[in-house]
Amino acid sequence: MYIKGNKTNGLTPIVSNWMEQVMDDEGLIKDLIDTYGSPVNLHHLDTFEKNIEDFRDVFESYDLNYQIYYARKANKSKSLVKKALASGIGVDTASYRELEQSLQLGGTGQSLVLTSAIKTREQFVKAIIAGVPVVIDNDDECQLANEIATELGKTAVVGIRISGFEVEGEKLYSRFGFDISEVQQFIDKYIGVGKKYEQLDISGLHFHLDGYSTKQRGKSLSDCIHLANELDENGHNISFIDIGGGILINYLESEREWTEFDKKLKKQVATGEGNLTFSNNGLGYELINGNVERSLKTYPYFNKLNGADFLREVLEFRDPRNNETNASRLKANNYQIRIEPGRSLLKQVGMTVARVAHRKKDAKGQWLVGLEMNMSQMMSSSEDFLLDPYLIYTDNNSEDAEVEVFFTGAYCLERDVLLKRKISLPRLPQIGDHVAFVNTAGYMMHFFETEAHLFNLSANLSFSDSVNLSVSDFIDDEKL
Ligand SMILES: *Cc1c(COP(=O)(O)O)cnc(C)c1O
Repeated sequence: MYIKGNKTNGLTPIVSNWMEQVMDDEGLIKDLIDTYGSPVNLHHLDTFEKNIEDFRDVFESYDLNYQIYYARKANKSKSLVKKALASGIGVDTASYRELEQSLQLGGTGQSLVLTSAIKTREQFVKAIIAGVPVVIDNDDECQLANEIATELGKTAVVGIRISGFEVEGEKLYSRFGFDISEVQQFIDKYIGVGKKYEQLDISGLHFHLDGYSTKQRGKSLSDCIHLANELDENGHNISFIDIGGGILINYLESEREWTEFDKKLKKQVATGEGNLTFSNNGLGYELINGNVERSLKTYPYFNKLNGADFLREVLEFRDPRNNETNASRLKANNYQIRIEPGRSLLKQVGMTVARVAHRKKDAKGQWLVGLEMNMSQMMSSSEDFLLDPYLIYTDNNSEDAEVEVFFTGAYCLERDVLLKRKISLPRLPQIGDHVAFVNTAGYMMHFFETEAHLFNLSANLSFSDSVNLSVSDFIDDEKL
């Protein structure tokens, strides 16, 4: 039997049928963990494909020339790269090994892009030989790309990363990219036939913004269309504009639960009472001179505007200069619009399941439930993963006796508490029961996973819909 933690006052995650099917099958979960160890990461390929289709539908409804690049840094699994390529979309790579592996899995100059923050000589050589477009961040990269392209007797296809867009009177700072106010002059002066960087073929413009504002993305795209027009007039041939990732997703069933949680957390920080989180952790909120200050340092788990609708808002943004939408200007100019979604293509794709190792009561009288996993196996830049977990009980006959617990992990650190929030359960789990964390594919499973203590990295398994699932339906990513 499976049951969500926090029957009341929780943060109820959106769950998919496949997650319910797996959680409902205690035997399957036990077999998977006996076979692959704890925790296991499960990936549902049909959901990934559905997410791709949802973005496709948006672009097709505007009749746009488009391409989607799955930002694979959000999840390491090869299975998803294969699925992306098989579905006809591209893959955004951000390191040598991401690029190399994506090429081995069938990626090509047509389907891949390289956007690494730091680009080594090896990355440029690999990309230029394969004809993979490289998104250039600065003058030194132009220099290196041009040098390597010359040595190889090739042209390097590049996009230029741009930042510093002005939105509502404020300039958006970024450590990445060329500043919008100087980039046109730079490109006109240095890039192209007969110029300093003559082995570079600038075929597109690129940006990726921090945060999740559709207005900022809309304005930045609008500015890029203008810039592309001017570059075209000066003899360049801009074919694409890539607006990066950062498309919001919604993890939670209820807005009310989200706002209630925020309220209670602030109150706990203000009063020191509430016992919502381990050691009264404020998850970013702090009491300063008697006031609750700073902000929640987590992903915004509830978002009314998300996914396809978020993308539509960016495309519907109207250029203040001529009141035309981005979509209609892209179409009129026949610029290909590109996106690089990571998290949003992984919506509802993954689940992490771990085995209960022990239960203990600490000196404060709190129940700690030790799991065979560690904090790096469910960690993003968020202070906490704000979704209620699911408990999969093996013994279904015991009487209920409600208990509040914290789930703890295998690192030798005091702070390896897997969820900072206290979770109430209908009864204390037994050793060998399982805990499932849903919707973990985007950034949670892998982004910070380490081999500290020489722990094995968790197994990554992928599967497709089937009425009766057994261990053999799950493909180990190592075998791909
Ligand atoms: C991280 C990143 C992405 C993906 O961002 P998501 O928030 O996962 O959609 C896309 N492009 C670039 C350049 C990035 O750095």
